[in-house]
Amino acid sequence: MLYHGMKESEVEQSLNTNTKKGLSGKAVEARRKRFGWNELSEGEKQSALLLFFSQFKDFMVLVLLGATLLSGLLGEYVDAIAIMAIVLINGFLGFFQERKAEKSLQALKNLSAPQVNVLRDGKWMKINSREVVPGDILKFSSGDRMGADIRIIVANNLEIEESALTGESIPTVKNTNPIEDKSPNLGDMNNMAFMGTLVTRGNGIGIVTSTGMSTAMGRIADMIQTTTAMMTPLQRRLEQLGKILITVALFLTLLVVAAGIVHGHDVYTMFLAGVSLAVAAIPEGLPAIVTVALSLGVQRMIKKKAIVRKLPAVETLGCASVICSDKTGTMTLNQMTVTHLWSGGKTWLVKGGDHETKGTFYENEKLIEPKKEKSISQLLTFGVLCNDTELVIQDNAIAIDGDPTEGALLFAALKAGMHKDEMTKQFTIEKEFPFDSSRKMMSVIVKDANGKKFSITKGAPDVLIEKCESILWEGKQRLLNVQLVKEAKGAVDNLAAQALRTIAIAYKPLHSNSIPQKEEEVEKGLTFIGLQGMIDPPRPEVKLAVAECKTAGIKTVMITGDHKATACAIAEQLGILEHKDQVMDGQLLNELSVEELENVVEDIAVFARVTPEHKLKIVKAFQNRGHVVAMTGDGINDAPAIKAADIGIAMGITGTDVAKEASSLILLDDNFATIKAAIKEGRNIYENIRKFIRYLLASNVGEILVMLFAMLMSLPLPLVPIQILWVNLVTDGLPAMALGLDQPEENVMKRKPRHIKEGVFARRLGWKIISRGFLIGFATLVAFIIIYHRNPNDLPYAQTVAFATLVMAQLIHVFDCRSEVSVFSRNPFENKFLVWSVISSAALMFAVIYVPLLQPIFHTVSIAANDWLLIIGMSALPTFLLAGSFFIRKKK
Ligand code: ADP
Ligand code: MG
Repeated sequence: MLYHGMKESEVEQSLNTNTKKGLSGKAVEARRKRFGWNELSEGEKQSALLLFFSQFKDFMVLVLLGATLLSGLLGEYVDAIAIMAIVLINGFLGFFQERKAEKSLQALKNLSAPQVNVLRDGKWMKINSREVVPGDILKFSSGDRMGADIRIIVANNLEIEESALTGESIPTVKNTNPIEDKSPNLGDMNNMAFMGTLVTRGNGIGIVTSTGMSTAMGRIADMIQTTTAMMTPLQRRLEQLGKILITVALFLTLLVVAAGIVHGHDVYTMFLAGVSLAVAAIPEGLPAIVTVALSLGVQRMIKKKAIVRKLPAVETLGCASVICSDKTGTMTLNQMTVTHLWSGGKTWLVKGGDHETKGTFYENEKLIEPKKEKSISQLLTFGVLCNDTELVIQDNAIAIDGDPTEGALLFAALKAGMHKDEMTKQFTIEKEFPFDSSRKMMSVIVKDANGKKFSITKGAPDVLIEKCESILWEGKQRLLNVQLVKEAKGAVDNLAAQALRTIAIAYKPLHSNSIPQKEEEVEKGLTFIGLQGMIDPPRPEVKLAVAECKTAGIKTVMITGDHKATACAIAEQLGILEHKDQVMDGQLLNELSVEELENVVEDIAVFARVTPEHKLKIVKAFQNRGHVVAMTGDGINDAPAIKAADIGIAMGITGTDVAKEASSLILLDDNFATIKAAIKEGRNIYENIRKFIRYLLASNVGEILVMLFAMLMSLPLPLVPIQILWVNLVTDGLPAMALGLDQPEENVMKRKPRHIKEGVFARRLGWKIISRGFLIGFATLVAFIIIYHRNPNDLPYAQTVAFATLVMAQLIHVFDCRSEVSVFSRNPFENKFLVWSVISSAALMFAVIYVPLLQPIFHTVSIAANDWLLIIGMSALPTFLLAGSFFIRKKK
């Protein structure tokens, strides 16, 4: 199987495929059975059992289990079994949470799996690269990662970087010639391309020779199967903080135990109480819950068409202060329609909708016959020939397969009754120099029916005109003098001012027989033919999104390769460019250093005629001013800027594999409004995490303090160990999760972005936790003392009241946590999850207190109805104090 030595037809034969039609659906099925999926086998995953046991590896939990075992041996069976059960349930909960987080992250990975362009049953289509089989015909272009090993059969300026396989970082130039050498090195197989390597330039077509583990990459796959889990900054901070919190909690627990023993409690009781308290009060699960909240947020983002590739981006999104966004396709619809033609001083209007094959042409409001006008038919013909895009039938409608800009040129020709199929009978394309955004041009070399050769170049008018020597004017070729350049540029400005994207077309006869191999040879000494101007309407939702970003303290910057005037016209429509804002174009950007750009960058809202290379400079300049920058991109040259940005965003539809790999966020719909939605979600996720940190830690502080004060005051234990563990399981579990699902506060997009270095306890969170924890502890203790003094002989009754007060105080507090201000600033029952979790927690509490079967297990007794007044009063007190203080502060 030496495909590199064969001619195209031999490869075709030996793989039993057809390069014009591709494989049939049936053939694919049969080959799938034989060769399997095109994927590299994955490394070992952590088994479920292991994950389950890892829930108990915590030191304090182990101590608790040991202590329980001990009490079991001492004859306290009920206690021992109950504690075991609670620890077990806790473990299960943790297990399911982590599994869920893991699964959703895995689903995420599948969503951003690479796709390939394949020819099957005569049609080009996009499929997941996993579905590729040997014999498939693949099409690829710069920015793609190869989905399988292939034998190349078409190569246009094709270069592939193979460092993943060969270690060589300079791209290899590829061609289609058979190789004589029987066993060449991988690096010398210039007519082959290998799975996992990167197309850095040009485009091509190839036949798949091997897939999955039989590819060159598959043979070394073990080396690359390393996935690194990434922690977000907050998770890292929480982990550090966790250590401090554990120490503090342990210290306080020791204090409780010591005080208890000093005041005459027996050592064994105090030991078990202490361990239970430690298990309950140490927030060891916090980082795990944060992960769950993050991954749930990530799922909400998917629903809004934003895919997070790197978890830390969820947090960084909430800090974004500048969004640098591509215009074409992101702020606009990428539905281009040619509406104006210009050639030799004349302008024509083209009427007829986008994706319409019929239309009419006007000169000065007079209907004309476009085919009869020589300059029009030449402009349209060349626009079709110098074109890499096809029109295909999809769901009974004509659709564009390729670049919308080029699709517009095809439709413009169709409106004049000119078909690509007919043209290709007359003209054959001998060579293509694909478009790239840095050069802003594309060229082809064409042979006509008489064997005469010429080149056609199309591109950005101001770039192309520099390459022209002459111009067609009223049917004659004239030297391009200063006056005529001025005329042509005037025409460009005129079209651009109407928000039209402009494309110029030029040509050159070729005299020698050899075909030029470099684009520089082709793209000079041209004759300018004319212009096509196309509209690309803004996406309707973008204007509002820009305005929302503005109120949220986020600056929107438009970036485009288009003409300055085109960019300005659209930026004005979208509210991006306002009175004081400025526009900068690529030329000036070239001249400025990053430092110089920094000085003015805050005032710039639009960058026009930029190349992808400029984007990095723009990111740097904003970052140096202290901004957190989101930057979008799709092409291979955008990757460095995407990587450098704080939030790199790649386009899901038009984005190349390289851009996607560099990104931390992918927009499934390529839409600017989705960035805004993701930022809003990012802010909300962070706020929700703050909410449950506040809730959990305040609860823990309350639990510790009630025990501590009781011991210091030489009282009996206000809560027995199993009650403490129950509180930890029920009250801290469900409601905290529900907070993670909370709706955003109304003002999330009305305040400034959060500072990226903001600590966990910033914005008075620390104070809120301590003060509330203190109040919860105080309320519980007071309720306990009152009941205990009423009847010191009935300790279980007083303990049950303390237990009920503690639970109720937490269940009421959870509503406070939803708002940075006061519970009454928003509808407290808006979050259905929270309402239900509180109701079920309360129901479980009543069960523990009133169900006779459970009473002995939890050491509870039924509480008399009138004592609930005291319980509710004490537990609701902190909320009213808080709301009251806000009310008073507002009045002042
Ligand atoms: P953008 O990022 O806004 O799409 P590009 O760099 O892709 O900007 O395009 C810049 C200019 O290059 C366009 O205004 C147009 O004049 C020209 N252009 C765009 N696409 C093509 C193409 N496929 N062939 C030739 N010229 C093109
Ligand atoms: Mg473009």
